[in-house]
Amino acid sequence: EKEAALAATPSDADAPTIFDKIINKEIPSTVVYEDDKVLAFRDITPQAPTHILIIPKVKDGLSGLSKAEERHFDILGRLLYTAKLVAKQEGLDDGFRVVINDGPKGCQSVYHIHVHLLGGRQMNWPPG
Ligand code: ADP
Repeated sequence: EKEAALAATPSDADAPTIFDKIINKEIPSTVVYEDDKVLAFRDITPQAPTHILIIPKVKDGLSGLSKAEERHFDILGRLLYTAKLVAKQEGLDDGFRVVINDGPKGCQSVYHIHVHLLGGRQMNWPPG
């Protein structure tokens, strides 16, 4: 895919991404939750009626889940817990899905770890 070809390579673990601009409010986004550690905003290309990305404000080498180290335990927990909070806030009481794409074969295109929160329609299994 063209988008994948233009994306950063997995080796750019600390390279800035478009999400830094979102965190710094240099480009607009629709923020649905924010605290000192994490930011949650609506995906610009929603794949479901609710499609929100949850990211750490400080990447700390966590370009993707495959780069996780023990020092990331706390932020990894916060990302998932925030998904639960936002799912509740969005009224996804009948269920939702969280996804973390990793690397080329996982279809990751932005190398700043993010949890996709998807809901508002019936999800299918297996995913594509
Ligand atoms: P994929 O592009 O295959 O979904 P990722 O898991 O890396 O790969 O997801 C990156 C997500 O970031 C995509 O869903 C994309 O729509 C979203 N995105 C890219 N740029 C923006 C932006 N400026 N604002 C909101 N979401 C964005």
